[in-house]
Amino acid sequence: MATACQIATRCRRIFRNGNFAGKMTLKTKILPPSVLASSSVGRYYGRLMSKKEKSIRYADSHAHLNHHDFDGDIDEIAEQLESEGFLLTNVAYDIISAERAVELAEKFSHMKASVGVHPHSADSVTDDDIKRIKTLAENEKVVAIGETGLDYFRNRSSKESQKRVLIEHLKIASEAGKPVIIHSRDAFGDIVPIFEKHFDKKAGGVLHCFSENVEEAKIGLRLGFYISFAGNVTYKKAQNLRDAAKVVPPDRLLVETDCPYLSPQSTRGKRNQPLYMKETVSLLAGVRGVRPEDLARATFANYKKLFLNESSGEAEIVYRIRNSIYINVTRDCTNLCTFCSRIDYPVVQGHNLDVESDPSVEEILNEIGGSMPEELVFCGFGEPTMRLEVVKAVAAKAKERGLKTRLNTNGYGSVINKRDIVPELVGLIDSVSVSLNAEDKETYNKLCKPLDPENAFDAMIDFIKRAGALLPETVVTAVDLPEGVDIGAVKKLSDSLGVKLRVRSFNMVG
Ligand code: SF4
Repeated sequence: MATACQIATRCRRIFRNGNFAGKMTLKTKILPPSVLASSSVGRYYGRLMSKKEKSIRYADSHAHLNHHDFDGDIDEIAEQLESEGFLLTNVAYDIISAERAVELAEKFSHMKASVGVHPHSADSVTDDDIKRIKTLAENEKVVAIGETGLDYFRNRSSKESQKRVLIEHLKIASEAGKPVIIHSRDAFGDIVPIFEKHFDKKAGGVLHCFSENVEEAKIGLRLGFYISFAGNVTYKKAQNLRDAAKVVPPDRLLVETDCPYLSPQSTRGKRNQPLYMKETVSLLAGVRGVRPEDLARATFANYKKLFLNESSGEAEIVYRIRNSIYINVTRDCTNLCTFCSRIDYPVVQGHNLDVESDPSVEEILNEIGGSMPEELVFCGFGEPTMRLEVVKAVAAKAKERGLKTRLNTNGYGSVINKRDIVPELVGLIDSVSVSLNAEDKETYNKLCKPLDPENAFDAMIDFIKRAGALLPETVVTAVDLPEGVDIGAVKKLSDSLGVKLRVRSFNMVG
């Protein structure tokens, strides 16, 4: 069995580099109990004010402020949108609207442009038009190619022309290294084989104004697309869209207006504009069980990643989702789970967890301030029990204030700390959530790639039993991976351990 020191060393390497060969650059600052007892922790809780969440920002992934409907009041709308923290992409549907989108992007820093020709006009697209799109695509204000695609609902151009022009757009997007914006209506069966052959996953893309069902959403995700929902998701009869919105992972979701069209329910029939998108954001948040702020933050981060190739702002050691506060205790872990989305993209619901170094107790308490969340969750971008003393010190302060506490763990804390840690959690942790993930050692080792494959599974089972006996609540979780996990067998195991099982959707983090 590896020693705790070996574990810590290897885990830092895993998480910094995504492999075992990287350079160790992080320092874990574990404070001994004596230091904590005499520290200034108490002072922080006494004097800190509640920290205000960062102001909400919105990203409209698909607008047409380049449409002539906005010629009369574009300056006024642009000013309002800037003061409300909006970023948006004006999407072209022909060459004139492409040039107008670029003009607006050059004038307003919160607007970007996408250039292309809508499938409705595919019949009239000439070689010169394709050349013009290629030239416009080189402009730095142009962040995407489209909208392009197939529309068999209106069939305003022949299917052959639509396919030809779509393929041209996909080529331009790939050459420019910019994402493609796809319009698909009643054409999913024909569009998928084209994507399979011509879509450049690296350049990326978005299925705009998604109007299909859950199955098509899953296919789009598998192909590597983001999925963007417009105001029609708020319409009473659009239950299929709301169902589809539930299966999109938070890091692949976008929102749009498609203005001047598709106003959400309360402004239906009026000219749509980006400010109305807040209604769509609220509706989607409700459907997905988060707050509108959470959804706006996540989709803003996704917009920046897809269109601007930018990360989602400052790394956070304490972050909020719903009414819980999460503490990003460490980025070290003893596992390298195949489904750990944080390895490639350390962002949860728009919160950037890629901190440079692990936070001290003081830093954590400072960030929490006077907030009174429903629950304080020790979680983050690694295994919290690798910094047990920090968890205990923060939890002790939380309990003084009557806050509920939860520990999300891989159940390896007693091995990491070389003692049975469960009695130390009594009175500090109300609920523990252990990533069980598999019904047996072999499956667990395959999925979770623990540092110590010989003992990790059994050590976790022991931890679950001890936690179940001593702590108020113990829950185990499993991810419903497309293949490799028998959830029925995991349920049997959790029943035999006398604990509840929560099944987490694959890629649904936070
Ligand atoms: S235990 Fe959690 S943090 Fe560690 S690799 Fe697995 S999913 Fe990621």
